[in-house]
Amino acid sequence: MATARVPVPISTSEELNPFRIAMRQFDTAAEKCGLEPGLREVLRRPRRALSLSLPVKMDDGSIRVFEGFRVQHSNARGPCKGGIRYHPNVTYDEVKALASWMTWKCAIVNIPFGGAKGGIVCDPRRMSKDELERLTRRYAYEISPIIGPHQDIPAPDVYTDSQVMAWIMDTYSMTHGASSPSVVTGKPTFLGGSFGRNEATARGCLFVIRSACEVTGIKLNRATVAIQGFGNAGAIAAELVGQAGATIIAVSDSRAGILNRAGLDVAALMEHKVKTGSVAGFPNSDPISSEALLELQCDILIPAALENQITLENVDHIKARIIAEAANGPTTPDADSILHQRGVMVIPDILANAGGVTVSYFEWVQDLQELFWDEDDVNRRLERVMVKAFSDVHATAKKYNVDMRTGAYILAIDRVATATRSRGIWP
Ligand code: NAD
Repeated sequence: MATARVPVPISTSEELNPFRIAMRQFDTAAEKCGLEPGLREVLRRPRRALSLSLPVKMDDGSIRVFEGFRVQHSNARGPCKGGIRYHPNVTYDEVKALASWMTWKCAIVNIPFGGAKGGIVCDPRRMSKDELERLTRRYAYEISPIIGPHQDIPAPDVYTDSQVMAWIMDTYSMTHGASSPSVVTGKPTFLGGSFGRNEATARGCLFVIRSACEVTGIKLNRATVAIQGFGNAGAIAAELVGQAGATIIAVSDSRAGILNRAGLDVAALMEHKVKTGSVAGFPNSDPISSEALLELQCDILIPAALENQITLENVDHIKARIIAEAANGPTTPDADSILHQRGVMVIPDILANAGGVTVSYFEWVQDLQELFWDEDDVNRRLERVMVKAFSDVHATAKKYNVDMRTGAYILAIDRVATATRSRGIWP
């Protein structure tokens, strides 16, 4: 579990509230595809949300109350699905945005889930493992009336991991009188987790980058790549994209960035990060700021940290030809349209990082069947899903003559609206 302070870029001129950004993206696509006004109202809002005060006994005997959320955006296509984020900057609006992006993401990869997200305003780097366990169990208990294998299935997100999922699974199971592995995904494999889940977000990202390279004529094995964020999504993306032959020239985490134009040794860098807690000071590299990394001369840029990294402030300095959004919400709508005008291929978050939820779906299916697949099987199925999703989004974008993000939204809105119409508005 990485821990860090996150600098949020300051922009005076544009909207940085993630939920308002998500609504603007939705509205743009809903307008383009002529979604009827009633469904527009239904689909732009979350279905329901819990706001929680979570008292926790700290190690020193004091009591602290943490703020937490669980938001369910839509269950039109199946149970809600979405990660849980632990971060000091979590807000209700951020969780609402992330929940809606989950709905569209699940629809794009065509898995039978709706969207949800959870978050707790906390700083895991300042908490002991015991404190984190107590906080997690209290949160799991408080959200247990609305989660469940057929209601809403949480998963890891920023600064949460398979250990946090194991605590949630245990708390839910203890309070329901039966072991319930399928209530969360991203568990350790020995507790019903899926092989390949840990790498799934990055592997899915690699598959869509490969498709984007084919469309844009960029040779992946000769491409240079910069990656912002070196956690689950970013570090494994560096490893896999590097194995595909690309040269990883720069990476950053919340403490530091490093650059070597000849290419970083990613395996050695991962060991360095485990040993020291950061990419800082990696041998044979020069320091670079996370902001400067985004502006490097490179073929492919992978933002894999947090929201609002590519904005009106820096978009004119972005030189990459493909941007693969492993992170959720890294590009603001204004920056997005400038990139589109400049012919940069932005693979939007709701497609680029959908590999994670796809293998979460595989994990859920395996848990319900109590029959497990090997890693090759998982990866082959993931590849099929991601390649098809990229091609569906690309075709939709072409058909409507829009950028890839709007194309992705149109595809997703059509699938969710069809399900909603067909189920009807009850009563
Ligand atoms: P993580 O906690 O494993 O890693 C986050 C990384 O980002 C850490 O290395 C941290 O140091 C770094 N970071 C934070 N702020 C930074 C900054 N300002 N500059 C550079 N680096 C910074 O989290 P993760 O699971 O890898 O998630 C990263 C992004 O990917 C998030 O937007 C998340 O929602 C998205 N995502 C993750 C998954 C998944 O399965 N893990 C799935 C879909 C989307």
